[in-house]
Amino acid sequence: MKLAVEAPPLFTLAVAGREERFPVNRVFCVGRNYAAHAREMGKDPDREPPFFFMKPAAAVVDAADPVRVPYPPQTKNYHHEIELVVAIGKGGRDIAVDKALEHVYGYAVGLDMTRRDLQLEARDKGRPWEFGKSFAQSAPIGALHRVQEVGHPAAAAITLTVNGQPRQSSDIAKLIWSVAESIAVLSQFDALAPGDLVMTGTPEGVNAVVAGDVMRGAIAGLGEIEVRVG
Ligand code: MN
Repeated sequence: MKLAVEAPPLFTLAVAGREERFPVNRVFCVGRNYAAHAREMGKDPDREPPFFFMKPAAAVVDAADPVRVPYPPQTKNYHHEIELVVAIGKGGRDIAVDKALEHVYGYAVGLDMTRRDLQLEARDKGRPWEFGKSFAQSAPIGALHRVQEVGHPAAAAITLTVNGQPRQSSDIAKLIWSVAESIAVLSQFDALAPGDLVMTGTPEGVNAVVAGDVMRGAIAGLGEIEVRVG
């Protein structure tokens, strides 16, 4: 096949203890999935159906080793959101909740980096969130841990420090919509495919970082990531 222009790059993530890498297709993100974070964003944490937004594959940065991400343009309020990341290994549509975890390849620690000023301006004007959320290198993600190795973590401490100071601290047991429920709902809107990622939402404590800051995010059992800004 002859291509008219250069093919776009493939974005991949490391798999802990393995040589093969995980090719990234789409990145789905769950909004407001911890009650305390919904409240800090000025929203009611009632258990409404989950909602989703997306990031492009180009958002993904392999953070299996310490990495640096650039401070993005057009923002003065660049926020960290530490999240449990789910990697889809088997596609499907209209997946039942009790079968949903069979579609998971593995889990990782990730950051949903956000241009909060752009996101909130868009939200308040009823516009799309894209420019607040979907931009290059806005999703540093650690090595994937396969289900065969770590099972399906349902409770684990999730934490983020900036320059050694605690910023976010919660437990993935506090997810409003579980991993299985999020997969089931997503698959009603579009068929999921191998390579898709689901970022499951962030707990409370989101805040700004500036150039030179070092973020360390961790989920017990899934290792940690170190991401320097700028
Ligand atoms: Mn998020």
